Amino acid sequence: MRLFDPHIHMTSRTTDDYEALYAAGVRAVVEPAFWLGQPRTSPASFVDYFDALLGWEPFRAAQYGIAHHCTIALNPKEANDPRCTPVLDLLPRYLVKDNVVAVGEIGYDSMTPAEDTALAVQLQLAADHGLPALVHTPHRDKLAGLRRTLDVVRESALPMEHVLIDHLNETTVKEAKDSGCWLGFSVYPDTKMDEERMVAILRSHGPERVLVNSAADWGKSDPLKTRKVADLMLAEGFTEDDVDRVLWRNPVAFYGLSGRLALDVPAPEATHEGNSIQRGVPKDEPPRTAGVAAAEA
Ligand SMILES: [Zn+2]
Repeated sequence: MRLFDPHIHMTSRTTDDYEALYAAGVRAVVEPAFWLGQPRTSPASFVDYFDALLGWEPFRAAQYGIAHHCTIALNPKEANDPRCTPVLDLLPRYLVKDNVVAVGEIGYDSMTPAEDTALAVQLQLAADHGLPALVHTPHRDKLAGLRRTLDVVRESALPMEHVLIDHLNETTVKEAKDSGCWLGFSVYPDTKMDEERMVAILRSHGPERVLVNSAADWGKSDPLKTRKVADLMLAEGFTEDDVDRVLWRNPVAFYGLSGRLALDVPAPEATHEGNSIQRGVPKDEPPRTAGVAAAEA
């Protein structure tokens, strides 16, 4: 089984998670730029974060055999902070980079005028750069949030078929599907969507244009939710082809709209900016000083 997690924040996860993802069948991930919990106080913090999403994190993922791409944006929550909004002027330099496969995550958190502006500006940036957009919908007041989101997308230059609306559930799936956008579902432990509800939605609405993600981050979350949904789909009578469609071909098709998705995992480089990840000399290699001593003897 090959799996693609189209929304996971690996910056917040450990190497144990990368190992477990690979063992579960996950061969590709997309990491959307988002809020870090601790508020950022200047655009410079975003620059370092974006650079990490483009450099360090794909390097780390490659050590575990996983292809890593990212989406770049000013997230909805920090769109309300005037210390952060100047980052909008820095986005064009990132949106041309090879590993950036969408603008995101953008959208509404509290549905403020500042969020209206950031969403409209970034949908235009996506259209200008030939990129699709990953659009977050609010966790409160979901249906109102979805309707306002769809209105703004319809007024934008980006076609609805280049937009993935994420964090959908039973209350929003139908209107989202009727709009023609791609349909994202985040499956969490304890709250919001779970595997059973996800499979029920697939049964009633079908697998077409549906993407399932773990949205795992620094909060209580489970990076293996894609596998758990796949297993439950099979147990509930979906075919292996259905699973492959939802958990591989749909995310490949959506992010493939960027023309930049590269799913062969590059051989891990020895170092990233001088950092090899390894701490000291691996156990199975003789200590280097012994070799030097032998050569000198
Ligand atoms: Zn997220």
